[in-house]
Amino acid sequence: MFAFSSSSTKHLQFLLSSVCLLSSTTAFTPPSSPTRRLTTSLNMSAKQIVIIGSGIQGTSVAYHLHKSSSLPPDSTITLLEAKEPASAASGKGGGFMARSWGSGPTVGLHELSFDLYQELCEELQVESYRKLPVLSVLPGFGTKSTSKTSVKAPLIPSWLDGSVGRISPLGMGDDTAQVTPKEFVDKMLECMTQADKGVKLILGTCTGIECRQESDGSKSITGVQYQTKDSKTEHSLPASDIIVSAGPWSCQAQEWFDNAVSLPMEGVKSTSIVWKPPLDPKGNPINVDATALFCGEDDRFGTHLEVYPRPDGTIYICGIGGSDYISTSQLQSCAFLEECPPREDRANAATKAFTTMSNTYKEKGELMTIQACMRPCPPDALPYMGTVPGYNGAFINAGHNCWGIAWAPGCGKVMAELVLEGKCKCLDLRPFDPARFTMSGGRGGRGRKKGSLNVGEQW
Ligand SMILES: Cc1cc2nc3c(=O)[nH]c(=O)nc-3n(C[C@H](O)[C@H](O)[C@H](O)COP(=O)(O)OP(=O)(O)OC[C@H]3O[C@@H](n4cnc5c(N)ncnc54)[C@H](O)[C@@H]3O)c2cc1C
Repeated sequence: MFAFSSSSTKHLQFLLSSVCLLSSTTAFTPPSSPTRRLTTSLNMSAKQIVIIGSGIQGTSVAYHLHKSSSLPPDSTITLLEAKEPASAASGKGGGFMARSWGSGPTVGLHELSFDLYQELCEELQVESYRKLPVLSVLPGFGTKSTSKTSVKAPLIPSWLDGSVGRISPLGMGDDTAQVTPKEFVDKMLECMTQADKGVKLILGTCTGIECRQESDGSKSITGVQYQTKDSKTEHSLPASDIIVSAGPWSCQAQEWFDNAVSLPMEGVKSTSIVWKPPLDPKGNPINVDATALFCGEDDRFGTHLEVYPRPDGTIYICGIGGSDYISTSQLQSCAFLEECPPREDRANAATKAFTTMSNTYKEKGELMTIQACMRPCPPDALPYMGTVPGYNGAFINAGHNCWGIAWAPGCGKVMAELVLEGKCKCLDLRPFDPARFTMSGGRGGRGRKKGSLNVGEQW
């Protein structure tokens, strides 16, 4: 299998970031030509901005647009969402973030977003955000706790009372944090869609774009076509600017833009589970200590668990192995957009692996949720963030892989700058150029290659 799991990818990026510390701390050089193909007219006439997809990424772009002082008066912002806001990975992902786990071009996204989260969660009164320590835990093979560790309580959570191997710290809680992504999306939407803010949400599936041919050969966006969720009738929405932020399904836009941009994408579909808080003998929920775990590969169960206790007392677990790999053409046909069924066999494997590590959950644990979702993976594992060549007012913000929640505030800010000011001031967007596979068909990096083209997830 060519793709890496979310767990091993996140962990590997952490290790790489440590190795790359020297290069990543060198001064940031502003991009010399950040808007090579940007031809959007930058005047202050009102804009009609349509964002395709109301996951955490699309919603964050809308939020930063609506807050920006550069948004021309009387502009409108519309989120067009095929199902429900945060109904895909943005409602079902873990919500873990780590300021210093970026490497190469993603360092800035990690840092900018981590800092913004703290600010935004205060502003929006998001209750599920908190900093928390993270441990690396290797599998243990005894019947009793077999951990060898220098890590001391209270870092080791009381519920980690089963069979485990070596434990070591990955983060002490200063630069690692979590948020329950659905709450974050809901709070942004709640704030934006209050009366008089010019932001609205339409439930409908984008099926194409409308544009006007300009005398210089370029095209300008004039509208978006969509099908309503309930009646499946066709509609058209006037638009001066569109931002495609439809997660793995963003590769549909290749056809909307008449192949002006090539957006290869793989959807990695994974099952995750959520445990209820265990009850004490009086029937009250017990206190669930807040330490996240990144567990090593456990060959007995085929798992590499990521365990995230949440402030509401539940425990979210992903990294349960056996992911399915969904191709670009399947995604272009909207695979798993309507329904994304979980795999019972993987939920059972994760349950066995987790209850081996936790006697508390073996004795008192009860599963609350089994679910699945897809993370969007471009071939080089870098997101698509920027403009569409030849189309004025067309932008892509998609393919954020296993960090789409952690990076959402930064991506929102950066894309809002690009749309409203014509350039991004806080980040070099060149590595994320949506046209990078259109121009040369491949670029360097780690991972499998077919000829010069990267195939599968790169890291
Ligand atoms: C198991 C798992 C755990 C994860 N854990 C973490 C984590 O701990 N930390 C982290 O940072 N990231 C994590 N991720 C990754 C993260 O969840 C994703 O990168 C992120 O949610 C992507 O957000 P998005 O808004 O781009 O896409 P999505 O959440 O997929 O949203 C896309 C939206 O677009 C809509 N849409 C699609 N097509 C159309 C259309 N034609 N018209 C209108 N709307 C459309 C969909 O209905 C959907 O609501 C995890 C992913 C998985 C699978």
